[in-house]
Amino acid sequence: MKIIIHGGFFSESSQSNEVKVAKQNSLKAIVKKSYEFLETNSALDTVAYAVSLLEDDELYNAGIGSQIQSDGVIRMSAAIMDGETQKMSGVINIQNVKNPILVAKELMKEEDRVLGGSGAKKYATAHGFEDFSTEIPQRRKEYEEKLRSHGKGTVGAVAIDKNGKLAVATSTGGKGFEIPGRISDSATVAGNYANKFCAVSCTGVGEDIVSNASAAKIVTRVTDGLSIENAFDRTFEELKEIGGFAGAIGIDYEGNVFHRDSHPTMVFASFDGVDFEVFV
Ligand code: ASP
Repeated sequence: MKIIIHGGFFSESSQSNEVKVAKQNSLKAIVKKSYEFLETNSALDTVAYAVSLLEDDELYNAGIGSQIQSDGVIRMSAAIMDGETQKMSGVINIQNVKNPILVAKELMKEEDRVLGGSGAKKYATAHGFEDFSTEIPQRRKEYEEKLRSHGKGTVGAVAIDKNGKLAVATSTGGKGFEIPGRISDSATVAGNYANKFCAVSCTGVGEDIVSNASAAKIVTRVTDGLSIENAFDRTFEELKEIGGFAGAIGIDYEGNVFHRDSHPTMVFASFDGVDFEVFV
């Protein structure tokens, strides 16, 4: 059993020391709580749980604390994928729900598994998700000052459970100040992908992640026999060739946990029941 979570991509200068310490504590607490959950739950339920905890923490740009788009509205995206069944479900540009990842998980039961915009919100309401504003004063202030926030705090989780099953979940408030209608990578196979061999969640510039097809590519390379390290290496080399920016976390079927980022850096934490690795 292993779990790795990420809290997005940040330029060193955009985080005060206070925020860094808060993130370190938050990531450590969430990865530990999620590991305890994994002891009695599947990888699939655990990644949804881990991402919902990250969404509830306003330190990250997902759920509460999501960034505001250029028209003053928050639209969030999230997806979850079961490595065993290769089912992926997600919501794209959903408004006014507390936990987009839990709506994405609910959609696992449906034939139509990725919903966008008002359709996603209608589905959420019909399935008991209350109306909830995820806006916090700090994001409104940044929006009003028209300061592009340098920190991108998308969140993600990858887990392998006691039966060796893999799953991944990713959730984002987007990149901030985007044109309404823009689609993030997080609810696509470029940003969130898993099969029986590997599971990967990405953060960074969505357009670059989609151009590079990052998560799907890493997973496919592991499936075809590359080590997870080489799969990450090759995919990040290709990202560099297009001048792209991203970070990614992953676990393979043997339980090897891996992460990589281009500049700037991704904040993450992993736990295997004994050792923590936390980077903020
Ligand atoms: N990947 C996200 C997006 O482009 C942003 C992020 O990772 O922070 O929407």
